[in-house]
Amino acid sequence: MNRRPLSPVWLVLVAGLWMTLIGNGALWERLAELHLVDGPHGKAFALGLWLTMWGALTALLGAAAWRFTLKPTIVVLLFSTVLARHFMNSYNVLISPGMLTNALQTDPHEASALLNGHLLSSLVLLAAVPAWLVWRQPVAYGNLGWQLWRNAVVPLSSLALVTALVLGMFQPLASANRNHKDLRYLVNPLSSVAAVARLAAQPFQRQVGPPLPLSEDAHLALGMPVGNAVRPRLLLLVLGETARSDRFGINGYARPTTPELERAQAISFRNAWSCGTSTAESLPCMFSHLPREEYLRRDGDHENLLDVLQRAGLAVLWLDNQSGCKGLCDRVPHASTARQPANGLCSDGECLDGIMLEQLDAQLAALEPARRGRGVVVVLHQMGSHGPAYFRRSPASAKRFLPECTSNALQDCDPQSLRNAYDNSIAYTDRFLGQAIDWLRRNPTDTDNALVYVSDHGESLGEGNLFLHGMPYALAPDAQKHVPWVTWLSPGFAHADKLSDACLRARADARVSHDGYFHSVLGLMGVSTRAYRPALDPYAPCRHEAVLAANSDTR
Ligand SMILES: [Zn+2]
Repeated sequence: MNRRPLSPVWLVLVAGLWMTLIGNGALWERLAELHLVDGPHGKAFALGLWLTMWGALTALLGAAAWRFTLKPTIVVLLFSTVLARHFMNSYNVLISPGMLTNALQTDPHEASALLNGHLLSSLVLLAAVPAWLVWRQPVAYGNLGWQLWRNAVVPLSSLALVTALVLGMFQPLASANRNHKDLRYLVNPLSSVAAVARLAAQPFQRQVGPPLPLSEDAHLALGMPVGNAVRPRLLLLVLGETARSDRFGINGYARPTTPELERAQAISFRNAWSCGTSTAESLPCMFSHLPREEYLRRDGDHENLLDVLQRAGLAVLWLDNQSGCKGLCDRVPHASTARQPANGLCSDGECLDGIMLEQLDAQLAALEPARRGRGVVVVLHQMGSHGPAYFRRSPASAKRFLPECTSNALQDCDPQSLRNAYDNSIAYTDRFLGQAIDWLRRNPTDTDNALVYVSDHGESLGEGNLFLHGMPYALAPDAQKHVPWVTWLSPGFAHADKLSDACLRARADARVSHDGYFHSVLGLMGVSTRAYRPALDPYAPCRHEAVLAANSDTR
C-alpha cells in the first residue's frame, strides 16, 4: 500500500501529543495529591498546563523539522519519554541534571540490573512501535525555502501560544513552581531535554582541562620514621555505597545488622550527612578540599585528596569493586576487582566486596617501597548496597533476614522482603568491614593501622513511595543523605595520633558531613598543608592537645 506523504507539521503535532499524553502520569498524580487540579479552576489550570507542554514540545520539534533531523529527534524523544516515565512511575525518581549524570555514568552492567518486564513492555509498546510508525511514514518536506519558512513559523507561533498561556495562568503556575520544586522535574520529556541542556552548558561555565594543583606545600608532619619513634600509618578508607545510617545496628537500628563492628568496638558518628544523593555527586565532593557550598560554587576543578596524599610522599591505592572512581584515581595507582571470572565471590560479571581483601596484599606489594615506608592510604570502593538488586549484594551465608525481595521491580515486593534484602546487604558490609579490621589487626605489623568507613549517600526504600536515590539535594528525604561514618583505630594508631577514644565516642551525635572527609584523612595521616582546615576535621577536637586545651578552658 502506498502511503500518502504527510506534512512534517502533522508529525510534529502528533508526536508531541503522544509524548505529553503518555509521559506525564506522575505529574498529574502529584498535582492531584497537592490539590492543584481540584475544582473548575484546577481543571482549567490542568488544561492550560497540558497545552503549554504540548506547545513547548511543538516548538522544539518544529525547530527540528528538517529532512534529516525530524525523525531521529522524534525517535530519541520517544524513547527518553518512555524511560523517564518508567523511572518516575516505578521508583518515583525525578529527572534532574544530577539524575542524568548518574544515569550517564552507569555502566551496561548496572543498567541491565534495572531491566525488567515492565520496562521492556513499555519500551516496545509506547516507544518502539510509534517510532517504527514514524520512521516508515513518508513526509513531504518541500524545498529548502519552504522548510526554512515552516521551521521558523511553527516554533514561533507555538512559543507565542506558550507565552500567552504562561501569562494567563501566571499566578497558579508561579506558586506551584515555587512551593513544589519537584514538579518541574516531572514534566516529561521536557525535564530530560532541560537536564541535557544544563549538562551540555556546564563545560562552558567552568574551566576544563587538567585540574588545578592543590596543596603544593603538602608534607608529612610526622617526619620520616626513625627507629621505633614514629611508625608509618596505614589507613583503609572503605568508601561505602548506598548505605543508610539508620539501618546500622551500631547506630541503634532494631535489627542486629552490624555485629562485627560492635565486636570490634568501632566508633560510629551517628549524625553524618552526605554531600550529594548519588555516587557521581558525592564522590568528587568528598575528595575535594572544599565544603559542599563552596564546592558547588567552584570556578574550576582542583586536584583531590589522593593527589595531596601522594604529593606528601605517601603510597596511595584505589581498589574498585564498582563502576569506577569518577576520575578521582586517575593520577594514583588503581585497580578494579569488579570483573572477574566466576569464583566463590564473583558471578555474572559482578563480585562481592570481599574480593578486594583477597587482592589487597598483592596490590600493596606492587606499590613503591619508598612511599610505603612513609605510610599507605588505600581506598576500597565498595559495591555495598547498590540497588535495586539488593539481594545480589550478600552471599547466601550472610543472609540473616528472610524472605528476600528478589526482583528489581521494587514496588512489586512486599515491604518486609525489601527491608530484608536491603538489611542483608548491610549485614554483608558489616562482615566485610569486620574482615578488613581483622586484616589490619593481623597483617601489617610494622605500621599503625586504622579504618574509616563512610557511605557516599543513602537510599529510599519505599518511604513515601520513593525508591533508590539521586533526588535533587534540596528535595531529597533524609534517608538519601544520612550516612554511616565508622572509625576503627588500632591502639598504636590512636596513641601515635594522640586520639582520645572516649572523646570520639562522646561525639557520636555531633553533626559531621562529607565536608570533613578530606580534612579527616589529612589529619589522620599527619599530612600538613595550608588546605587542611582543622575546623572541618571531626577528629581534630579529640586529638590530645585539643582535649587538653578544652579541659583547661573549662577550668
Ligand atoms: Zn553511590
